[in-house]
Order: sequence, then C-alpha cells, then structure tokens
Amino acid sequence: MPHALTELKIHTVTKSPGTAPHELTADLCVVGAGVSGVSAAVEAARLGRDVVLVDSLPLLGGQMVNSLIGLFCGVFGNGPDYHQLTHGIFDGILTDLDKTGDLHYNRGHTLTVNYDEVALGRWVERTVHDLGIRVVLGAGITEVERPGRRIEAISFATRHGAVRVTASGFVDATGDAALAWEAGLPCRLPERTIYGSQQLILEHLHEEHQPGRDELAAHVAAKAAAYGLPRRDGLAFFFPGRGTAVLNMTHIPAPLDPVASSAAQLEGREQADRVVEFLRTEFPKAFGDARVRAYGLPGRRQTRWIKGVHQLSLDEVRSGVRFEDAVARTAWPVELHDRADGYVWETFDADHVHYVPLRSLLSPDCDNLVAAGRCADGDAAALSSVRVMGPCAAMGAGAAHALDLAGPEGSVHTVDPTALRARVADNVES
Ligand SMILES: Cc1cc2nc3c(=O)[nH]c(=O)nc-3n(C[C@H](O)[C@H](O)[C@H](O)COP(=O)(O)OP(=O)(O)OC[C@H]3O[C@@H](n4cnc5c(N)ncnc54)[C@H](O)[C@@H]3O)c2cc1C
Repeated sequence: MPHALTELKIHTVTKSPGTAPHELTADLCVVGAGVSGVSAAVEAARLGRDVVLVDSLPLLGGQMVNSLIGLFCGVFGNGPDYHQLTHGIFDGILTDLDKTGDLHYNRGHTLTVNYDEVALGRWVERTVHDLGIRVVLGAGITEVERPGRRIEAISFATRHGAVRVTASGFVDATGDAALAWEAGLPCRLPERTIYGSQQLILEHLHEEHQPGRDELAAHVAAKAAAYGLPRRDGLAFFFPGRGTAVLNMTHIPAPLDPVASSAAQLEGREQADRVVEFLRTEFPKAFGDARVRAYGLPGRRQTRWIKGVHQLSLDEVRSGVRFEDAVARTAWPVELHDRADGYVWETFDADHVHYVPLRSLLSPDCDNLVAAGRCADGDAAALSSVRVMGPCAAMGAGAAHALDLAGPEGSVHTVDPTALRARVADNVES
C-alpha cells in the first residue's frame, strides 16, 4: 500500500546562537590533500596514528587529481637506469594503476608516467577510506591556535558549519603555506610572479598525426601572438591508445588575493580555449576533431612557502648535496616558470640526484609543524626542481615520520637524523 503523501513530517528549526563547532581530536592533522598531504596521511595511518585530513576543496587529490596534471615527474631518476627514487604511496599507485591500464611510461632523458586522473582519484579515495583516515572536505582555515611554539588546534569553515581539530602534530601541505601563514609563522614570497597553468584534457584526437615536441614548440613560438597566447611554448601529453591528451600550454598568474585568484581562473579558461583554437587550426590532422573533455582547477606552481630552518639552494641542487636529514630526492630539472612567455629548463646528468633536508620543511618558530610539497623552503630555482610529484610525496612521508619520531610532546627540531634516515631509507638511499 502506498503511504499517504502527508505522512512525512517536517520540523521548523532555527540555528541556536553560539553553536559550538564540531570538535575532532587526532594524533595528526594534515591540511591539504594533494600528493604531499595524502602521502603524509597514509604514512602516518600506516604507523598506527589517528589522522584527520582536511582540504578546502570538496575532493581529495589536490592538483595531481583536480588540476589534471596527468604526468608523474621526478619519481624516477635519469636514463639509462631510471632508478625509482620515491616509494611509499607511489609503489601502490604504480602497481594498481598499471593493472587497470591507467598508466603509460615514457622513457627519455628521464622517466615520466602518464596517468588517468579519474583512476588516480579513486585510488586516493579508496586508500584513505581503507586506512580509516577521517576526512573533512570543503574546509578552509579560519583560525590557528598557537600560544607559543606549538600549534594546538585549527578551526575551519565548511558549508555545514565550523570544525575545530585538536592534534599533537600538524602538516602544512596546502601548497600555499596557508597553515604556516595563518599561524603567524614567517613565509617566503617570490618577488615576481611564478606562473601557473590552466590544464585541460582534449578528446577525439588522432594521435598518429601528433606533432613532435620540438615541432609543436616551434609552431607555438611562431604563432602564439596571433592567437593571443602569452606563453610561447607548450606541451601536449598524449595518452597512447585513448585519443586524449593533457595540454600544458597556458601561463596564468597564481595570486594569493581571493578576488584576483578567482579572476585568474576565468582568464585561464579563456587562454585554454585560445590554445584549442590554435591547435585545431594549425594541426588539423591531429586536433581537427578535438573537444574539451575537462578543464582542470587552476594549476599553481610556486606561490608562498615557509621560511624554513634551511633554505635549499640552487647550488645544493646542482651539486646534489646529501644532507644527513634528507627526506626526499629527485633528478627532476630546474623548471622555473618565472616569465610569461616561457620557463627556465636545466637538466642534470645521468647519475645526478638532489635531496631535500627535513630542515627545509621546519619553521624555526614551531615544534609540531612540518611543511611538505610546494610549501618547502628553497630559493625559487631550487624549489622549482623539487616541487614535482615524486619528491612532494617523499616530503609528505618524511613529515609523517618526523612528527612520529618527535612524539606527542616533543619537537621536530630534535629528531635524531639516524633514526629518521632509517625510516625514510627507501626514499633517500636504496
Ligand atoms: C600546471 C602545472 C603543471 C605541472 N606539471 C607537473 C607534471 O607534469 N608532473 C609533476 O610531477 N608535477 C607537475 N606539477 C607540479 C605538481 O603538480 C605540484 O607541485 C604538486 O602536485 C603539488 O602537490 P602538493 O600536495 O604540494 O600541493 P597541492 O596539490 O597544491 O595540494 C594542496 C591542497 O591544499 C588545499 N588547500 C590550500 N589552501 C588551503 C586552506 N587554506 N585550507 C584547507 N586546504 C587548503 C588545496 O585545496 C589543495 O588540495 C605541475 C604543476 C602545475 C601547476
């Protein structure tokens, strides 16, 4: 028998004044769920820690999933040996996505890996869920309680009300050092813009006609002005067999001002559409039938980062200094997007590896905070060579171990480097 339609009762409710925030307590609170934050949360959960992972997006995965980056860089060393330099979450990602045909390896000067962003997004969600990591999504920082050298709690605003997280350790994996900034800790800002890009995925491509990298670059250099494109180079990463490609061909500023950053997002989409027009017209055999399958969220490369105990320098990157407290390594080139029309690209020799020390992830004024990924301290060129996904994941894992070794009351500044190295050996030694 169908129910009477009036059976479903409704109540009239009004928010009580002074509604208390939703309170959460954890061992570790990770703010930012991109590759570095997910790595930190996963590593800490595997160590048995109770973890809360927070992001201002309503989704996990940060830029690697939602900005449609599409290519893992810096995970492997240079050829001919292509040693895997970062393990941890990358072991699981590479094994599981390979089984479903969602990866493609490119062997050149170094080894990069195309990935399907939908499959990667689900991998992250399943992994976080299966480890029992509590997530709070759509949550931006509103207040950080730091009475002295320790952060005690962070408050967030969500569409469903306020959340306050109390923890003994914190990871700033926000990419913009938003946690350190809101905690009143010193941060670094580049003097001139370091450009981000509006990534997009095209479908219905004819990959057998795809232009070579140099041919595409030369064509963009010659015709960019005619199509109103500030950037005079660009890359199209085809995913073999799928008729799709990720385009990395725009340059947009990545301001920290809320209104300017929203305007930059809209400008990025306009630029992206002009790129598509350029490709359809100039390379009709490969791109004549192209349709936009998806626009990514604005990609931000280097915006604001922490002032660390140690600022990684370009000299240290070039000479591959092996720090005793190293937590990450890579062979990725210097890739500094500090001008509208292009970027600096400086590659390294076959056996080159450079390292990131824990000290570059630590604020001198805080005992229970570790920054990871794009938030690490380096000069602009040095940071450009360690902010790709391989070393970002390694930094996240290093952050989790440093906080675990420090313990609930201790300081990350006094962690024993030998004990730390034993924990992160896979990412710095093997
Ligand atoms: C256009 C572009 C192309 C790139 N190409 C490549 C490539 O081909 N291969 C490669 O390996 N790397 C590439 N990179 C670099 C790489 O993608 C990023 O550096 C890396 O993904 C950064 O990871 P992350 O975890 O440090 O930060 P992000 O992925 O930026 O994650 C930070 C997270 O913090 C959240 N957050 C920020 N502020 C707050 C706040 N106040 N409160 C709560 N949450 C907050 C954000 O929503 C975000 O999810 C590229 C980057 C860009 C921009």
